[in-house]
Amino acid sequence: MLAPFVSRGRSLRALLPAGRPIADDRWEARHRGIAVLLWLHVPALFVMGLLTHHTLWHSFADVVPVAACGIVAFIPHQSRHVRSGAATLGLVACSAILVHLSGGDVSMHFHFFVVVGVITLYQDWVPFLLAILFVVLHHGILGVLAPHAVYNQGAAQRNPWLWAGIHGAFVLAASVAHVLAWRLNEEQALVDELTRLPNRALLTDRVRLALARRIRDGRDVTVLFVDLDGFKAVNDTMGHASGDRMLVEVAHRIRGIVRQTDTAARLGGDEFAVLLDGHDTRAAVVVADRILTALARPVRLDGNHERTISASIGVVAVTHETSVDQVLRNADLAMYMAKAAGRGRVEVFEDAMFDEALDRSDLERDLRAAVTDGSITVAYQPCVDLATGEVTGVEALLRWTHPERGNVPPVVFIPIAETTGVILDLGRHVLRTACRDAVRLRDASPSLVMAVNVSARQLVSPAFVGDVETALRDSGLAGSALVLEITESMLVNEVDLTVARLTELKALGVRVAIDDFGTGYSSLSYLRHFPIDILKIDRSFVDQLPGDGAALARSIVRLGQSLNLEIVAEGVEDDAQRAELRRLGCVRGQGFLFAEARPLAKIEALLRSAEGHPDWFQGQVTPLPLPRASAGGTQLA
Ligand code: C2E
Ligand code: MG
Ligand code: MG
Repeated sequence: MLAPFVSRGRSLRALLPAGRPIADDRWEARHRGIAVLLWLHVPALFVMGLLTHHTLWHSFADVVPVAACGIVAFIPHQSRHVRSGAATLGLVACSAILVHLSGGDVSMHFHFFVVVGVITLYQDWVPFLLAILFVVLHHGILGVLAPHAVYNQGAAQRNPWLWAGIHGAFVLAASVAHVLAWRLNEEQALVDELTRLPNRALLTDRVRLALARRIRDGRDVTVLFVDLDGFKAVNDTMGHASGDRMLVEVAHRIRGIVRQTDTAARLGGDEFAVLLDGHDTRAAVVVADRILTALARPVRLDGNHERTISASIGVVAVTHETSVDQVLRNADLAMYMAKAAGRGRVEVFEDAMFDEALDRSDLERDLRAAVTDGSITVAYQPCVDLATGEVTGVEALLRWTHPERGNVPPVVFIPIAETTGVILDLGRHVLRTACRDAVRLRDASPSLVMAVNVSARQLVSPAFVGDVETALRDSGLAGSALVLEITESMLVNEVDLTVARLTELKALGVRVAIDDFGTGYSSLSYLRHFPIDILKIDRSFVDQLPGDGAALARSIVRLGQSLNLEIVAEGVEDDAQRAELRRLGCVRGQGFLFAEARPLAKIEALLRSAEGHPDWFQGQVTPLPLPRASAGGTQLA
């Protein structure tokens, strides 16, 4: 029978601003202040009673209920409701006594309203309901039994219940106004303006409550940390209004997936988090996968522009007592691992990730210093004509000698430099150094070409083309002597921007190589849309030569030939590989068979010693003649 009322009550509650529960220490401090205020009333009312009634006993009887409430309010270990309820009843009783002592003076009724203002500090509906109930019953019952103790107006004395209702309604209105204003103000500080999702502060609070509940009743707590991949590029290329639209849509889709009892929040920028109620790891991963699927649908930005975006998601399941900060940090770490593992993925937090991250944060700090203190240098690996052994170019490769760790390989520090943004300074440094050194090396070998690796983060940076131009101008290197190596993933992820940037670079005369070709996901026919000049066959294919890798290597060479691209094989380690590559039609190669990356002076000496024809093969094999098929059109400038 009560069900409709209960459910209506619930839906009404859902409409009310939820506010934020007060932390224990703050609640205690506020409650102490209110209880002290209550106790200050006791002597004041007692003295006032003496002055009005002139009997000790009567004055004493007046303040007994107030003192009793004051005592209950001070009992520790009682629930908040009991203590705030006692303090509230004590204070409204003070109002009633004051009105009574004044002979029902209407002005004294203002005390009730002051009390309503004071109990707002509890930010809770219970004290208000008690106050209203008290006002109505007190004004009504006492108004009938002893009208002069409540009202000094004839109209009110004649209709005590009507006036009790009016006063009760005013107290109710004041209460609602107070609490609503409070909670709305508070909500403003707890909700993200753009997406209307809870913000970091509110999420933190909810996670704190969930952790407390987990200790109490063992309910599972899991948190997802969602970070959009490549969101910055959307902002940079399509403008902030489109970026905002994307964020609002992402928020909408995430909210559409989680249940009402879960909390989806925006932490700032392109970071979101979801607190899942009662999910174990497996269930949380399912939710994370559903978020990835939901985000995979294109988002309509402005006009007819559509854009898809992926996200990297870290999942953390709370398994032992821990703090909110730790939970969020671990989820962030797992997200970071998802990014590092290739983006658009879900990773579940494991303890080992933490050690790795510590290590990483040390490296991050040292890397920033290394960029300026000269412990990072540029070395050069020769690129060689596979038939004649002539050095036709070099590739600039970074080398970092860490003061304690020794050599840190680029595969470790380049990703760190990319995520921290250090790559922008580092990349500029490599570009300048390589162009300057190329001019020196071309003294020894005039047709030598310098290849420089460029990371995605550099390529999307608006300053990049200007940096290349400056490096060429300052060094005096011809644009045609510079090759920029980009990875295949850039052809897949940032298509429009990449094409635009590459076209600008080509205008400088610079050539473009696709590095590690064959490891990405670009469809081969796709290649013709990009202004590229060189394909570098990834080491993993060369590794399988002769034998398993032959078919793949051959198809890459054929593809290159059909698109009129130059082919360079990476990681040539033995002569059988060299011979096979020659046989397949590949003209150029790099690898330990010839040389590892060496410092400038050594490369220069090498070029001068053999006039660019060092005896790589050390008499073990005879240089092969160039095959007819690839003799033309593949020479490096
Ligand atoms: P990458 O551009 O594909 O460079 C080739 C890598 O293969 C180099 O590793 C080189 O030392 C290694 N290598 C060359 N020949 C052989 C061989 O015969 N066998 C084997 N096993 N490896 C060989 P390194 O120097 O460790 O560089 C790794 C990656 O780091 C580079 O791959 C490149 O992606 C990145 N990197 C290096 N320097 C820079 C830089 O200045 N800027 C950017 N953005 N990335 C860089
Ligand atoms: Mg390279
Ligand atoms: Mg490579």
